[in-house]
Amino acid sequence: MQLDFLTLMVVMAVNLLMISATLPMIMGQGISRAARFAQKSLLLQAGAWVAIILSASFWDQALSTVSVAANALAQWMIFRALHEWLGPRPLEKPLLALVILTPLGYTLGFEHYAWRVGWANLLMGASMLIVARAALYPALEADRRWRYLLMACLTTSAIFTIARGLLGAFTDQYPSFRTPHPVNLMAAVATNVSLVLGTVALLVAWRDETELKLRTLAMTDSLTGLLNRRGFMAQGENMLAHAWRHRLPMTALMLDLDDFKGINDRHGHDVGDQALKLFARLLEETCRNGDLVGRLGGEEFCVLLLHNSAPAGTAFDRRLRERLHDASAAELGFVLDYSGGLALLAPGEASLAGLLSRADAALYQAKAAGRGRLVTA
Ligand code: GH3
Ligand code: MG
Ligand code: MG
Repeated sequence: MQLDFLTLMVVMAVNLLMISATLPMIMGQGISRAARFAQKSLLLQAGAWVAIILSASFWDQALSTVSVAANALAQWMIFRALHEWLGPRPLEKPLLALVILTPLGYTLGFEHYAWRVGWANLLMGASMLIVARAALYPALEADRRWRYLLMACLTTSAIFTIARGLLGAFTDQYPSFRTPHPVNLMAAVATNVSLVLGTVALLVAWRDETELKLRTLAMTDSLTGLLNRRGFMAQGENMLAHAWRHRLPMTALMLDLDDFKGINDRHGHDVGDQALKLFARLLEETCRNGDLVGRLGGEEFCVLLLHNSAPAGTAFDRRLRERLHDASAAELGFVLDYSGGLALLAPGEASLAGLLSRADAALYQAKAAGRGRLVTA
């Protein structure tokens, strides 16, 4: 079978153009910054291939330089997308330097064939390796398999790009359109496959991101931004397992605003909502790192305190109540109060539901005893 290099290049350019033109259409508006970076990267790579093909016919230096610059920038865009998806990635500054130096050195040394192809391909290969590494490291807790796929695609492309750079810099065998070389043909095939699979990886990354967003949304209370019952129970179970493993004390506080129906009736539902938001904010401010807060229902909230015992629970209650009295008088124009039930994790107790129901029973007693107080189970 005879593979024709120019045909391969054209196929690749058409593939990329189609993908990069279609993706924004099917992904729609309102996508994340990360997804937008990924789209731009594909568009730049498509542009790079079109420019390199055209450069064989006219404006050689200008179009080849545009191509090298677009390819380098495309790597930077993938890196930015990874940064958005996975958090800060290492070697950002060296990559930025490579992205600037690659086209610069290429065009300055354009007259020297070995220099320019060696320079552009070797630096490009180095950029790809940095981005490949960024897909995997630092490692994440959650295993996202698309990262391995992207890493494999980028590494494959990097190996062939570096091989071409070495051929160009140190031998007279650099593969051009006119003198195809086996390495060049293999590189074209491998790059083509890598681009298609790399696109798949980016699409799966985008799907992961959307899924995570939905999952977070399903666990969050939209009014206060606190965990809702579902989210609180899920994270509460994890916390309980942790406390259980490390034999740590744990305290549950069940809190319910007093006479909230009356507040709604007297001041209106909007003021009621404002009161709920204020209470949620103060709860978060009173919590320490590692504590868990949730809105379990209408005007009922729950706090789980780790590494804490009954005195710490009552201290929490005291701080919260003082803050609430001051802040509600200042911000709402009336004093908001609540009743609370406190329960301690019993030795050997392995059920969150049991702990919460004892806190709930204590809360009921606090209501019965006249509200505005904390009762310990
Ligand atoms: P108690 O002191 O015994 O707790 O009385 P209460 O009025 O606070 O309790 P009750 O359960 O009788 O009423 C709770 C009220 O909370 C009724 C409901 O309309 C209101 N509520 C529930 N969710 C929301 C909300 O999201 N916004 C507002 N504004 N009100 C809500
Ligand atoms: Mg109430
Ligand atoms: Mg209630």
